[in-house]
Amino acid sequence: AFITLEGSEGVGKTTNVRFVCERLESMGHEVIRTREPGGTPRAEQIRGLLLAPDSEEPLSDLAELLLVFSARAQHLEQVIRPALARGAFVVCDRFTDATYAYQGAARGCDTKAIEHLEALVQQGLSPDLTLLLDMPVSAAAERLASRGGQADRFEQERSVFFERVRAGYLAAAQRAPERIETIDAARPLEDVQGSIDEALTRLLAA
Ligand code: C5P
Ligand code: MG
Repeated sequence: AFITLEGSEGVGKTTNVRFVCERLESMGHEVIRTREPGGTPRAEQIRGLLLAPDSEEPLSDLAELLLVFSARAQHLEQVIRPALARGAFVVCDRFTDATYAYQGAARGCDTKAIEHLEALVQQGLSPDLTLLLDMPVSAAAERLASRGGQADRFEQERSVFFERVRAGYLAAAQRAPERIETIDAARPLEDVQGSIDEALTRLLAA
């Protein structure tokens, strides 16, 4: 099965990707943990292009969109499809919902263009379950600030950008309620992981 985790910066995606992998492994499943943009050596190089600061040369919105799908095409062919074909679980930190949220809702790329590229690149493949970690932008920004470190090109954006990202994600969840489980990530980690466990149990029972 194909499981993705989504959400804006600072919502606890990385911690919970690890949690999902550990839960599935403890049940004896083969689990491939991966991420987007990236997940293969070449796709990670594309990630480097996406995250590099704009100071040298700005990245055009269309180039950004095409790079995201270029990395995804490579990742699907090299990692995701082969793993799913042999029956492994694939747990991916971000996937196409992030494209609708970041490149679509936040940057303003045409949704029709995204739909075209999605159809071309994914050929009907989509996640079986998506865990959307949702919390107010201000709370996520506080978590991010306390984490410190160098902000990448996206993390340097202002809060209006992240409000659009959040709205884009919530709109995606409304379009695909049977796939996307929206989880209130502002709660204590225990409660968040309790909700994740319930969603996993439902997926495994289906
Ligand atoms: O998930 P992670 O934080 O590692 O992603 C790296 C950066 O790429 C983030 O700042 C994220 O917002 C951005 N990103 C994006 N569009 C995507 C996927 C990730 O802007 N489709
Ligand atoms: Mg990040």
